[in-house]
Amino acid sequence: MRSRVIFGIDDICPQKSADAGKDFGGDLQAGILGQLLDLRQDFPRIKVTLFITPNYSYKAQPRYFSTFQKILKKPFGKRFAASIAKKLPDGNFQLGKHPEFCNFLKMQEKKGIFSLELHGFDHFNPWLYYPQEFTELSLEKCNERIEKAVALFRKAGFQKPKVFAPPGWGLSGNLLEALRNNGIPRIAGSVDNSSSVSKDSFSKGSGLQCVSALFPQEANGLLNIPRNWDLRFGKLEKATQILQAGGILGVQAHAAEEGVENAITPENLLNLKNVLASLEKDFGNLRFAHFKEI
Ligand SMILES: [Zn+2]
Repeated sequence: MRSRVIFGIDDICPQKSADAGKDFGGDLQAGILGQLLDLRQDFPRIKVTLFITPNYSYKAQPRYFSTFQKILKKPFGKRFAASIAKKLPDGNFQLGKHPEFCNFLKMQEKKGIFSLELHGFDHFNPWLYYPQEFTELSLEKCNERIEKAVALFRKAGFQKPKVFAPPGWGLSGNLLEALRNNGIPRIAGSVDNSSSVSKDSFSKGSGLQCVSALFPQEANGLLNIPRNWDLRFGKLEKATQILQAGGILGVQAHAAEEGVENAITPENLLNLKNVLASLEKDFGNLRFAHFKEI
């Protein structure tokens, strides 16, 4: 079997650079999505899985959330935190409010370069940890959020998602059960940031750590697909080791620099292009896959 490469990008949503100076996909061809489409010039069969937050809400976390974390863990604290969260703006980037964005993605999906998968509902946890939307939520709340997220996907004209990337890498038993309940069979739930790997390496980074860093593996009845190579900091040596071991090269990136460094930028994409070109010299034509095809 030819060496497999998957490329997943978190935080895709309709936010554009005119909104707050950061393009999360809303700039369409003129922004990061255009940069990704341009990768076809060098790698005509490249595939990119876009993990989309269907109701992305940017809510700056008030300072006292972290200052009073201990207090907020108590029931009255949780109610207080929720009342604050309700007052913040919500739903500006809901898919249904951005038909041009949705149509652009659907058109590119038909051409095969993009597949559209799920990255939470709004990426906001009202209780404690801003990006970890599902941390500490009950099964009922997890179910409710996954159902709402899938409904927004369908309303936007997207297919039912088959893969879930957890916002902020926050995973829980309740979330995994909610995904099973809602017929989502795969998670992109582990990121490995080691500088080198072998066939038996476990994932050493955020998300699940009890799973292989190189191979798909079952976790609580779902198939975990590893993410193991960083768009910005990934080196050729590690990519070579992964493919030599027969593993999947799981390129990991984010749409924009919002608390992360591996955003879609020309420099970071150049790192990927250089490494893929070297790998093709050593391993022959790479086989690109979407997460849903693993
Ligand atoms: Zn995210």
